[in-house]
Amino acid sequence: MDCSNKKIIIAIDGYSSGGKSTFAREIAARLGYIFIDTGSMYRAVTLYALDNGAVVGGVLDKDRLIGMLPDIGIGFKFNPERGASDVYVNGRNAEGRIRSIEVSGLVSEVSSIPEVRSKLVAIQQELGRDRGVVMDGRDIGTVVFPDAELKIFLTADPSVRARRRYDELRAKGVEVTYEEIERNVRERDRADETREVSPLRKADDAIVLDNSRMTLDEQMVWVMDKVEEKLCGR
Ligand code: C5P
Repeated sequence: MDCSNKKIIIAIDGYSSGGKSTFAREIAARLGYIFIDTGSMYRAVTLYALDNGAVVGGVLDKDRLIGMLPDIGIGFKFNPERGASDVYVNGRNAEGRIRSIEVSGLVSEVSSIPEVRSKLVAIQQELGRDRGVVMDGRDIGTVVFPDAELKIFLTADPSVRARRRYDELRAKGVEVTYEEIERNVRERDRADETREVSPLRKADDAIVLDNSRMTLDEQMVWVMDKVEEKLCGR
């Protein structure tokens, strides 16, 4: 797409396991943009809490985690094998451990802490400073980049999303049951939608895409048309 040198911000928000990251990564690859999976940042903070004594007997000690925040350095480094950036915590690659069911079970609670959100939102805004970014999460179009040129709210049936996450984890050899995954997906939807700080909601100017019955190729045809509109001003 070469009708403009303009670089834009593309915000992709939506429910858990809705295929946001795959979708966002593919858009970024086609445009030569940076792709940032903000969920991986909340997961990385959760992993740090688990590894450093802020979770005792499965219960999160919020004050302890808030006290630790200045010690947590979050960054990204491009991994050519994945075609995406891996998340790093204090210089250590955390990508391999952040998708465990243990982290998934605690991440919504961690992400409801205002201090955690303001720290991560500041990093996200810095990463998008020069535009040319596709960012996926829950609050990108509403809080992180309310001025994003293109906002997409991705949805799919909960059972379709649970099946996708289940297949993904099983393919990686993780021992889980479908019921466990479906429960986690529904619980995270509820927690993300009802939390006080930056709840998951569609920005007024976001376009909804329900991908329950769409292939990735079909989603790309749909979205590249929208991108062209923004870049070429049709
Ligand atoms: O996208 P993913 O499912 O990996 O995100 C994990 C969790 O991180 C979500 O359930 C949500 O609680 C939190 N999150 C968030 N804001 C974002 C991205 C993720 O609160 N921008």
